[in-house]
Order: sequence, then C-alpha cells, then structure tokens
Amino acid sequence: MSSKRTAGAVVIGGGAIGTAVACYLAKDGVDVTLIERGEFAWGTSRRCEGHIVTYDTAPGPHSVFCKRGQEMFYEAQKFLPVDFDFQPEGIGLLVDDENHLETVKANFEGKKKEGFDVTLWDREELKQHEPNIGDDILACLNFNNDCTVNPMRLCYGLAKHAEANGATLMSRTNVTDFRMEKGRISSVVTDKGEIMTENVILASGIWTPQLGAMLGLNVPIRPRQGHVIVTERSKGLVSKAYVEYGYLLAKGGEKRDNVTPDMDKFGVAFVLEPSSAGTHLLGGCRRFVGMDTRPHPAVMRAIAERGQHFFPALADTRIIRCYAGVRPFTPDAKPIISPTHLGGVYVAAGHEGNGISLSLITGKLISDFINGSTPEMDLSYMHIDRFGFNPPALPIGAA
Ligand SMILES: Cc1cc2nc3c(=O)[nH]c(=O)nc-3n(C[C@H](O)[C@H](O)[C@H](O)COP(=O)(O)OP(=O)(O)OC[C@H]3O[C@@H](n4cnc5c(N)ncnc54)[C@H](O)[C@@H]3O)c2cc1C
Repeated sequence: MSSKRTAGAVVIGGGAIGTAVACYLAKDGVDVTLIERGEFAWGTSRRCEGHIVTYDTAPGPHSVFCKRGQEMFYEAQKFLPVDFDFQPEGIGLLVDDENHLETVKANFEGKKKEGFDVTLWDREELKQHEPNIGDDILACLNFNNDCTVNPMRLCYGLAKHAEANGATLMSRTNVTDFRMEKGRISSVVTDKGEIMTENVILASGIWTPQLGAMLGLNVPIRPRQGHVIVTERSKGLVSKAYVEYGYLLAKGGEKRDNVTPDMDKFGVAFVLEPSSAGTHLLGGCRRFVGMDTRPHPAVMRAIAERGQHFFPALADTRIIRCYAGVRPFTPDAKPIISPTHLGGVYVAAGHEGNGISLSLITGKLISDFINGSTPEMDLSYMHIDRFGFNPPALPIGAA
C-alpha cells in the first residue's frame, strides 16, 4: 500500500544516532519522521557495549566535545521515559606497561586542566579497590564521570521520547530512493510510500554510504568489526568497568609489542563491563572484514586470554554467548556531523566506537543545524567536506 505524506525532517536509521537526532528535533519543535527498516536498535547499536566515555581522547577540543556529550546523559536520565540502565560508577584505564606510564600521567594532568574528574591509582591503591586485579597491572587512571548504559534501552527511550513530542515513528520501513528539486531534497521514497520533506538526516551507521550514493553523496565510512563475549553471572569480580591503555593504541591501529601476535593481528584489547544482570561483557577487537558479524573462535580465544591477564579470575568464569558488530569507521576516526553540498541533506554517522557516547550531542547539534541555531562549539573538523570527496557544502539554509 502506498501513501504520500509530509514531514519537517526525515531521519533515516533507528540506531543510537538516529533515535537521538529524532528525539532532539522533536524536543526542539520540528515535525520529524524517524524511519528504520527493522526495529529500533536493529544495526550496530544492538551489537556493542554501552560505555559513555572520555578516556579515549587526548586533551584538546575533541576531548571537550566528548565531555559535553557525556554530561548530556546525566541530563537525559532525568527526562527519558525508559530506564536505560545508567551506571555512573566511572571507568578505569588500566596500565600494564612501564612505557605507557608517562603518557597516561600527561593525559591525567591535561584532563584535570580541562575540568575532568580524574584520579590516578598506583598499583597498591588499585589492588585495594580491585582485589582480583592481575599481578602485572601497574596503575589505573580513573575517569570518574564515565558511565555505562544499555544501548538498546537507550534507543527505545529516545524513540519514545521523540514520539511523545510529536514525532512519527516508522519501523519496518525501508528507504529506497530520494527526490531532489533545484539542488534541494524534496522527498524520501520508502517501501511504504513517499514522504515530502525539506530536510533529511542520514543517520544510518555503516549503511550511510549506500544511502549517500542514491543522492550522489560520497560518505567514506567502512565497517570495522568488534566482538563482545558475555560471561555467566559472577559476583564480586570487579566494582566497575575497565579498559586497558592498549585499547587506545588498538583503536588508532598502532602496533603493540606486549601482546601475542594474534592479539596484535586482531586488534584485541581488554574491555570489561559488569552488567546490571550480574554478567560481564568482555571485549574487544578491531578488524576490517567487511560486513561479517560472525564471532570468530580465534578472536574469542585472544580476547579471553587478554581478559585473564587483567583479571585472572576470569579463567574460572564461563562464557554464555558471543556476538560481533561492525563499527562505522571514517578515515580520521572522527564522526561526520554535518550539512552537505545538497540542500537540506545532513549526515550524522561514522562514530566508530563512540556512537553511544556521542549520540545525544549529535542529536542536539543536528537539531541546531536544522533550526538555524549557532552550535555551541566549532564543528568544522566533523564536516563531511574535510575528506575532499564531495563539492563544498552550500551555506546552511541556502536554496
Ligand atoms: C563490539 C562493539 C562495541 C562497541 N562499544 C561501544 C561503547 O562501549 N560505547 C560507544 O559509544 N560505542 C560503542 N560501539 C560503537 C557503537 O555501537 C556505534 O558507533 C553506534 O551503534 C552507531 O550507531 P548508528 O545509529 O550510527 O548506527 P546503527 O546502530 O547501525 O543504526 C543504523 C540504522 O540504520 C538502519 N538503516 C540502514 N539503511 C536503512 C534504510 N535504507 N532504510 C531504513 N533504515 C535503514 C539500520 O537498520 C540500522 O538500524 C561499539 C561497537 C561495536 C561493534
């Protein structure tokens, strides 16, 4: 059955980014339609962990941007209609290599200057807080405002909040084409009919390049795979979430000497998140293997081995399942939050391993673009034009 309707803005993609964009647009008074071809959190947002982090950016403008994005979760916790399992216990960055201590200490000082709540534990303090920590772990830089959420509940909460503010939610709806008039978007074509609109937001994660191609827009996003192992319930293993410093190196694609060849090859780095159900999510890895989301036994083994190095008690903990997802990776590992050279077409995608963390701030910034407000920070480094793949963008609001 086909129909024709209108919307002030159409958001494509019901993951963390699309639901957040719809939420903030509706909150700011825009008549928005959110389209998802499956159910909400159908893509990468249901195949990830839920760390809301500032530990993975060196001091500088992007660090401040991530801090603001994180603060919004403390605010959203008060207004979202769904309990999204917000756990504000902080996250610790563990150091197991003397060579990394100086960088971590410099990071500590830099983050303190930027107003972050950070503390540095030496080995003894760490052992007091985490009796199960491995013998070779030297220090821990605590990001006390880092937190964790359940990403699927977050997506549902954001979508529900958008709906309560007048948004139209269309799940099980596939976007198949677009129509343009005089260089501006005029409608979105779906398998359930056409929607006339002046604004479209491509918030479709790793599928954004295909949607961009329908419009003649080049969106340089590649899938970068990650695994998550889920353990059985085990009490008292850890008090909060931890990540190793080597995670930052693996994320930057850097060679690491203090890991096995498999860990280096698969980009394996330790991540551990206790869930409210009593299980633990153990990660992670970074691999370019196309859209493959099948867990790979050799990768799982390397992740489990790395986990035992940091928390040896994991050796006595059973695995109950494993899943893999694909992160939307851009050439400079920064998201694209941007208008484009096509009038009324915006991109909100390419958040790699930070799409849950940066979902709310992305939603707010896209809403600012569409409402013509001046964003609260310089966003030029997240503009799609930085890659030089498209003609320069029209000024915002140009016909
Ligand atoms: C193993 C792993 C661990 C991670 N851990 C973290 C973490 O701890 N913290 C963090 O911040 N991030 C983490 N991430 C990254 C995070 O998951 C992603 O950055 C985020 O989920 C991307 O969200 P998105 O909304 O852009 O994309 P998606 O969640 O993939 O949503 C895109 C949606 O678009 C829909 N879509 C596509 N094409 C169409 C179409 N034609 N019509 C309609 N709908 C369409 C898809 O069905 C999909 O639901 C992790 C990722 C992985 C893989």
